[in-house]
Amino acid sequence: MTAEKELVPSGVLPPASPLVLVVSGPSGSGKSTLVQRILELPGTMASTSCTTRPRRATEASGKCYDFVTEAQFDEMVRNGDFLEYARVFGKHAYGTPKKWLDESRKTGLDLVLEIDVQGALQVKKKLPESVAIFILPPSREELERRLRSRGTDSEEEITRRLAKARDEISAFRAYDYCVVNEDVALAGREAIAIVTALRCTIARRQARVETLLASFGGKD
Ligand code: 5GP
Repeated sequence: MTAEKELVPSGVLPPASPLVLVVSGPSGSGKSTLVQRILELPGTMASTSCTTRPRRATEASGKCYDFVTEAQFDEMVRNGDFLEYARVFGKHAYGTPKKWLDESRKTGLDLVLEIDVQGALQVKKKLPESVAIFILPPSREELERRLRSRGTDSEEEITRRLAKARDEISAFRAYDYCVVNEDVALAGREAIAIVTALRCTIARRQARVETLLASFGGKD
């Protein structure tokens, strides 16, 4: 065996399936912007969640979410249609249909899920190979400033979101990577760097390397 060969992790590496990237972060962390940055990378696709929350005036069905009734959501749960689902803010139900995972595996596109901490924990349990990225604000004060500057939430809602942020951040150990979104351009570069590095692992490049090796002819 050559010295180079010993550098490759032992054991048979499974054929690389597309990445499953889970992105979470407290409301006001800027996670949607960073998810958009990741989705600008060729070779990625977004999952469209189902939710029972009412549509906001700015949202079109099927683009951000598939808006469904409680009865429709419950039926999907009974049919085992969800990869994960949760009640977020103790109010509305949100879930990731399994069909997006099937689609990603069919097309070979890396799948991006923008979901809350409860959902991320479920995905990590079902798909341990998935990669979870946590987006955090630089400080509590900055998070509060951002929530206030939106001008959409009541004082009560802001207090609730800050308390929820604390709970969410305390689940940080479940995540593989953390991006602190102080400067959105830098945070975007970090998010892209994470995905790029994941795409360059030997496990993911194995088929390509083997093809290259075969083109040299002969066996080692
Ligand atoms: P919003 O209603 O503001 O769009 O989202 C509220 C929260 O629900 C966000 O933290 C968002 O990431 C989360 N969320 C969106 N879709 C899903 C989903 O399919 N599953 C889970 N568990 N959370 C979701």
